[in-house]
Amino acid sequence: MNDLAGGSARGDASGTSHTSEWLGRYAASLIPVFGVPQTVLSHGQGCYVVDVDGKRYLDLLAGIAVNTLGHGHPALVDAVTKQASQLVHVSNFFTSQPQVELAEALLRVAEAPAGSGVFFANSGTEAIEAAVKLSRRTGRGTIIAAEGAFHGRSTGALALTWKLAYREPFAPLLGRVVHVPFNDEAALAAAVAEIGDDLAAVILEPIQGEAGVNLSSTAYLQLARELTTAAGALLILDEIQSGMGRTGRWFAYQSRGVVPDAITLAKGLAGGVPIGALVTFGPEVTGLLSAGQHGSTFGGNPLACAAGVAVVDTIESDGLLDHAVEMGAHLADGVAALGHPVIAGVRGEGLLRAIAFTEPVAAQVMTLAREAGFIVNAVAPDALRLAPPLVIEAHELDTFVAALPGLLDVALAGDPP
Ligand SMILES: *Cc1c(COP(=O)(O)O)cnc(C)c1O
Repeated sequence: MNDLAGGSARGDASGTSHTSEWLGRYAASLIPVFGVPQTVLSHGQGCYVVDVDGKRYLDLLAGIAVNTLGHGHPALVDAVTKQASQLVHVSNFFTSQPQVELAEALLRVAEAPAGSGVFFANSGTEAIEAAVKLSRRTGRGTIIAAEGAFHGRSTGALALTWKLAYREPFAPLLGRVVHVPFNDEAALAAAVAEIGDDLAAVILEPIQGEAGVNLSSTAYLQLARELTTAAGALLILDEIQSGMGRTGRWFAYQSRGVVPDAITLAKGLAGGVPIGALVTFGPEVTGLLSAGQHGSTFGGNPLACAAGVAVVDTIESDGLLDHAVEMGAHLADGVAALGHPVIAGVRGEGLLRAIAFTEPVAAQVMTLAREAGFIVNAVAPDALRLAPPLVIEAHELDTFVAALPGLLDVALAGDPP
């Protein structure tokens, strides 16, 4: 099961692969909101995954910044196995040790002041919904979000998300959302002034992931903090993609010298087990939500929380924050050293990165990379996103960097992939 050295094709003699058979069954049984999946994965170990035909891939995406510890990490396997044999679910009429332990761990690594709190949900979009409800408890109604923002697909989170193609088919959504250009200080100040005392919250991703790994500046987040404080509104930072050590800090805001009123977490928090969280900072913000005002059947269940505790513990015991910084720099240096004319640069922090191109070749490079055994993501027509497991090693990154010029040359030659 865990022997990934193989690579024996297991397609049958007629040439029909297991992949095409499963994709056919997928098409006949699932609602096609995700289009056609790229392949059908079977198992994984470390930073490698294997598809149902035995083809092996270096996973440089980690399920979109989710598989923090890679695949089959013994700490996560042990935690989930042990917890599954003890308690999987108890309802929120009760609590459990893993739930309390994970909440305490998050408050500690977020350096949250006394009186802070955690609400557990099951996904990123649910964490955002909790943040929207929190903001409503200020008694105000308008939320500022950024152009390019991605906050999720449930209808409240969708109203905060920027892309029209995601929003328009579902109009009307939650109202009183004002989008401002990302990282534009003057535009933010003008919007805050115009909304006046109806401003409930400003919500921002410290690093916009889905928009192409775009960094906020320290000055921008600090201004957002000053403006929201002065306006009596909340500053909510969406760390769903940028959090849990991916940038080399526990949360991306921590390198920008701001203390938010709330953060949202999900993706990497439990290493692949579904979870989401809202963390509120200080007693005043935490006190906005009282008994009965929010809830979730599955949220904070012991299985997901035990996985989260294992992720936090392993990041600390294995020094994965520093490792993310080192590996991110190694990747960026390696790509820069290629000196390829179509590579415009590498942006991002730690192991949340985009390789930018001077031409719209990202989709083709993604397909060619997959054929060559690398999982990456064309996050924009001219940018490839890499968000590998935090346990990735330099020699693994090097195999992709070495392959990249060849992939680009084929893409540029215009050969159909
Ligand atoms: C992925 C993501 C979400 C949504 O998370 P889901 O678990 O898919 O609902 C929200 N915000 C950011 C920044 C994300 O990257």
